[in-house]
Amino acid sequence: INTTSLPDISRAQSAALYETALHYFPGGVNSPVRAFKSVFGTPLFIKKGDGCTVWDADGNQFVDFCCSWGPLILGHNNPVVKQHVLQAIDSGMSFGAPTELENDLASLILSNNKKIEKLRFVSSGTEAVMSAIRLARGYTKRDKILKFDGCYHGHVDSLLVKAGSGLVTFGETSSAGVPKGFADETIVIPLNDKEAVKAAFDQFPGQIAAVIIEGIPANNGLLIQTKEYIQFLREVTKTNQSLLIFDEVITGFRLGFEGAAAYYDVNPDIITYGKIIGGGMPVGAYGASAEIMGHVSPEGSVYQAGTLSGNPVAMAAGIGQLSQLLQPGFYKKLNAKAASFVECIQEFANNRGYKFKVFTAGSMFWFAFTDQNIQAAAEIDASSMTYFKVMHRELLNRGVYLGPSGYEIGFISDAHTAADLDKAKKAIFDSLDIVF
Ligand code: PLP
Repeated sequence: INTTSLPDISRAQSAALYETALHYFPGGVNSPVRAFKSVFGTPLFIKKGDGCTVWDADGNQFVDFCCSWGPLILGHNNPVVKQHVLQAIDSGMSFGAPTELENDLASLILSNNKKIEKLRFVSSGTEAVMSAIRLARGYTKRDKILKFDGCYHGHVDSLLVKAGSGLVTFGETSSAGVPKGFADETIVIPLNDKEAVKAAFDQFPGQIAAVIIEGIPANNGLLIQTKEYIQFLREVTKTNQSLLIFDEVITGFRLGFEGAAAYYDVNPDIITYGKIIGGGMPVGAYGASAEIMGHVSPEGSVYQAGTLSGNPVAMAAGIGQLSQLLQPGFYKKLNAKAASFVECIQEFANNRGYKFKVFTAGSMFWFAFTDQNIQAAAEIDASSMTYFKVMHRELLNRGVYLGPSGYEIGFISDAHTAADLDKAKKAIFDSLDIVF
C-alpha cells in the first residue's frame, strides 16, 4: 500500500460563489447538508451535469454518486426527459388547472404499480408525507404517529424528531421550532425492535393513527430491515386498526417500479413518493386505495391543495423518466451493475482487512466504517464519521462525488458506464488505503 494524498482540487470559483451565497442564505445554502459542514472545504457549486458526470464552477469533473440525492436514476440531462420538458414548456409553464399530462403520468404509475389505486400529486416529498399523515389522521380519527429513530420524512414539523442525516450531520436529533404539542403526538422508537412497537401500541391503545417507515431507511445510513420485521409492522398495524405508511420518497421507482412495497412483499395503506417521479423536477405524490383516497378533498374532508401541484412541466419530466424505467429488464440491469460494483469494493476492503462495510439494496449503497451489521440508528458509531470525512476529500481529489455527509447514501444510475465505475473503484480503493 503506497498511496499518498493528492493535492486538493482548486475551489476558487466555488469558494467565491459560497462567499456571495453567505450574504443571501442562512449558512450559504438552501438545504442544510449542502453546506459541506461535516466534510472538508467549502461547498462545490455545480455548473453542469451530463450522464453520470458533474462539473463544478472551477471546471473540476466528477463521477456523481449523489444524483441530486436520488431522482436522477437515468443520469443528468437524459435526452428523452429533456425532450418531454422542452415540449411541455412550449405550451406554457403552469395553469393551476387540470392538464392531460397529469392523467398521463398517473396512468403510467397506476397501471404499472398495483400497490396503490389512486394518487394525488404534490410538489415535494415533504408535502407528500405531510399530506399522508393528515390523511391517516383524518381517516382513523386518531392523532398519534409512530416513527422510527433515524427515519427522515422531510421537514414536516411533527416528524422532525430523531430524523436522520440532515439533523444528525449537525450533531442534533430533533429540530427547534417544533411545538411541544406537535412532538408529543410523535412516538419515536428504534428500528428493528418488535417489542418497542408492541409497547407503543400497549401504551397508547386506540390512539395511533399510523406507523410511518421509510421503504428502506436511507437517511441515517442504509438501515436494511428484514422482510419478517416489515411484515410484522403490517400485521400489528392491522390488528390495531392503524395505518401503515411507507415513505418511498427514496425507494419508490428505485428498487423497482413498485419500490420497497414489492421488495418486502407488503401492501402498505398509504405510500408516499417523490424524487424519481419528477425526473429532476419538483414533484411528490401520495397514494392509497380508492377508499382511503376518497377521504381527500374535494371527495372527502381531508383538505390538501397546491398552486403548482401537477405542474405540466414537472409531469412531462416524470413521464419522460418513468416511461424509460418500464423498458424490459431495466431494473435487473441497473441492480446487477450496482451489485457488482459494491461486491468488488467489499472484496477489496476484506482482502486488505479493513473495518469497512458496504450496505446495499438495488442501486443504493452506503459506505460504513464498521464490521458489524447495522439495522438501527443507535448502532452507528458517530466517531466513524471522521473516516468518511477523509474519504470524501480523497474521492473529490480523484474525481468522485459523494453526498457531503457520511450518513447519506450513494446512488448508481443507468448512465454510470463500466468505465465510470472502474474509475470510481480505483479512486475508492486508493482512498480506503489512505483512510486506513
Ligand atoms: N421522505 C424521505 C424518505 C426522504 O428521503 C426525503 C428527502 O430526502 C423526503 C421525505 C422529503 O422530500 P423532499 O426533500 O422532496 O421534500
